[in-house]
Amino acid sequence: MDIQEILTTAADFVTQASSRLVELEAEIRAAQPVRDRAVLMYLYRHKQPCLGCPHVTWRQWRNHPRRSIHRWSAHRLQTPLRHLPRGENGADLHRIVVEVLALERRRATFVRHLSALAQAIIVNRKHDS
Ligand SMILES: [Zn+2]
Repeated sequence: MDIQEILTTAADFVTQASSRLVELEAEIRAAQPVRDRAVLMYLYRHKQPCLGCPHVTWRQWRNHPRRSIHRWSAHRLQTPLRHLPRGENGADLHRIVVEVLALERRRATFVRHLSALAQAIIVNRKHDS
């Protein structure tokens, strides 16, 4: 592999993985009706986008039917696989979450290396000027 091929392959992988995460966010939503214990994935982007944008977070929704206000609440999950609701679409949901976690991990490796390169370029520019 030459330098050009390495850089292009890494950049393409990060771009494609990010697009796939957007698709998977929608798939998780489509696989679950609005219900108690639904687990949803949310992608967020920094105001000043970093190489790792968009980032994945997980929330589990809870329904409180006896309340008059705030009938729905959501709390953040670190380990979504442990909290997935069972039943209808359970297998699909599990498959999607497993794909997200694997993709996120693979993408993070590329982002880490690309960030280190970007940092080296910045330091090098300061050295030159
Ligand atoms: Zn970011």
